[in-house]
Amino acid sequence: MSEKQKFQAIKGTRDLLPPETALWNHVEHTAHAVFSTFGFGEIRLPIFEPTELFARAVGGETDIVSKEMYSFPDPFDLGELYARFRSLESISPGAGHFASIAGLSPDNQMISLRPEATASVCRAYIQHGMHSLPQPVKLYYTGPMFRRERPQKGRYRQFYQIGAEVLGGTDAPAIDAEVIEMVMTFFARLGLAGVKLDINSIGCRECRPEYVKLLKAELSKPEIKEKLGADSQRRIETNPLRVLDSKLESEQPIIEKLPRIAEHLCAACAAHYASVKHNLVLRNVAYHENWRLVRGLDYYMRTTFEITAPGLGSQNAVCGGGRYDGLIEILGGLPTKGIGFAIGEDRLILSLQEAGKAPAPRRLDVYVAWMGEKAYDTAVRAARALRGAGFAVELPATAQKFGKALGHADKLGARYALILGEDEVASGQWTLKTLSDGSQSKFTEPELLAHLKL
Ligand code: AMP
Repeated sequence: MSEKQKFQAIKGTRDLLPPETALWNHVEHTAHAVFSTFGFGEIRLPIFEPTELFARAVGGETDIVSKEMYSFPDPFDLGELYARFRSLESISPGAGHFASIAGLSPDNQMISLRPEATASVCRAYIQHGMHSLPQPVKLYYTGPMFRRERPQKGRYRQFYQIGAEVLGGTDAPAIDAEVIEMVMTFFARLGLAGVKLDINSIGCRECRPEYVKLLKAELSKPEIKEKLGADSQRRIETNPLRVLDSKLESEQPIIEKLPRIAEHLCAACAAHYASVKHNLVLRNVAYHENWRLVRGLDYYMRTTFEITAPGLGSQNAVCGGGRYDGLIEILGGLPTKGIGFAIGEDRLILSLQEAGKAPAPRRLDVYVAWMGEKAYDTAVRAARALRGAGFAVELPATAQKFGKALGHADKLGARYALILGEDEVASGQWTLKTLSDGSQSKFTEPELLAHLKL
């Protein structure tokens, strides 16, 4: 290693810098604005939770939990335990040393950086007794998530999601449709063009097992099984629904001919799905039915949806969502209905950038070019007054020569330079230079504020 070590952000993590962060702020402000018009309130959640929460909510057998989480023993627990051993030192010499070498891990809670936030929202709903609030409870969140995935365009190890959940109350199809309408409204408000909404129903505890049995039987037929790749062959046993997810070219003709869940829904699920579609039409939301859109976990049921956006290559899913009526109960709560979605903010931003939808970053309005120590007090006062009136102002910290100051103002893209030399200070007539055309005018302080506000 060289003597001067150069630190780099870890692969799969990124610094978000200005001016790009202006677009991130714009996207998040738009989410706050749109979601609040649908009656959603913001929830802010911890970045780490007990590993067990994700194992139960996302599923111990999923890639996310089995391979992709950043997990470690809770150092706080370690410290507590360690301290307890240390305190025994006086009555049992060597206890402290024993604590150091004992590892202490068996009694330690494992914690994980969150790979998603639905589990945390559900945990919070139970923990804060939100079932006694008027139902349903409508919550949204934004923030970083962590998954140990192989980084590529649109796939990071620290990425950002904007998501929402509707918990409690009924499972009326109008709720599913309104949640989808809200995401589509958000994308439309951002000017994201070319998005495609895929929907499906994956049935319920009554009808899905029957369908899965049928699917499994079909996939197990030797003439079909032998044409599948190794991954799909394995999934026939572990999770046959996931075979429908396969993107493998050679499997596509086989998958096309498999039985479709829409034809095997029970009457209640079929009616629910039909009503979701009717409700989407009512809300002017265009959709495509995609019978291959599935979720492999037991408590996901009925409505699932995914939204793709242009300009993203193979990682083109910007939002995934669905109904999960069994989840709160699995986490130890009362039986509770639930539906939600998560938007990949990184991908949403990439797509907006590809389409040239990034808003122009805020320009610097006024560069205060002060010259001579006598002008400094006035320069500070001018900057205070201008910033108070909402203008973006640069006040150089040290005196500069006239030419250098104007050059700096130009480089920063300032609209105006406010020139404050000894003459200006003595006469109270300040000089305002418009940098685009070089024109200059004189103003008193109140005149200047009035002029700039026009
Ligand atoms: P999921 O929580 O897996 O349903 O993902 C919801 C959305 O989050 C996806 O549609 C993606 O837009 C986004 N997403 C998931 N994983 C990543 C990742 N590693 N990097 C960037 N975005 C991601």
